[in-house]
Amino acid sequence: MASLAARYQGVLDRISQSAQSANRDAADLTLVVITKNHPASMVLELIELGARDFGENRDQEAEPKAAEIAQATSTPINWHFVGQLQTNKVKSALSYASTIHSLDRQSLLDSLAKNCLEKSEPLDVFVQLNLTDDPGRGGIEPKNLEAFANNVLSHSNLRLMGVMGVAALDRAPEVDFETIRGASEKLQQLEPGAKFISMGMSGDFETAIAFGATHLRIGSEIMGNRVY
Ligand SMILES: *Cc1c(COP(=O)(O)O)cnc(C)c1O
Repeated sequence: MASLAARYQGVLDRISQSAQSANRDAADLTLVVITKNHPASMVLELIELGARDFGENRDQEAEPKAAEIAQATSTPINWHFVGQLQTNKVKSALSYASTIHSLDRQSLLDSLAKNCLEKSEPLDVFVQLNLTDDPGRGGIEPKNLEAFANNVLSHSNLRLMGVMGVAALDRAPEVDFETIRGASEKLQQLEPGAKFISMGMSGDFETAIAFGATHLRIGSEIMGNRVY
């Protein structure tokens, strides 16, 4: 298998090619390397290669990894939290993460707002959309996005970045990317600054770029298969 450096460069090349095909500026795209189930040593190697944005989906794993990396390098990096976040883990997650991609319910909003009162910088948040027909699944239903966004906007210590989604595996990603893009357009009528879109993973990031993604969450294509 190709080296980590080669896989990382390969993804960067594909991102710039897709941006070019979509008539977009690659500089407007943020690659968030998802490092879950991979060791801190690989994160350090990626920092050497120039990567600065990393994502994790479980606080139990992310907190010690972020601490280990902070010990090992003084290079400033950004941690993105992309998984379901329990309210009892919020305080811990905020000790390293500067962006939360998975704001999916009111109780989490309340907890985030309360726990970042003392932060000097506002916390960047994406509202995660529920793209399934099942309202019981996590995430804000697109029809409730504006009401929920208003709640987010009422907190000056949170910065509403935009929307986030994970395309369903049982249909073409274009279907969900179109829904996310539509939701983003409506959100921007309410808050023009909330123009960012977190979508696209290893299997579908090129399509996501064509549909307007700004934050790509890419794991296995760079990190290789996860070691469980
Ligand atoms: C794991 C994960 C990713 C990355 O998935 P890959 O298919 O490995 O690129 C992206 N987003 C979320 C929310 C994840 O949990």
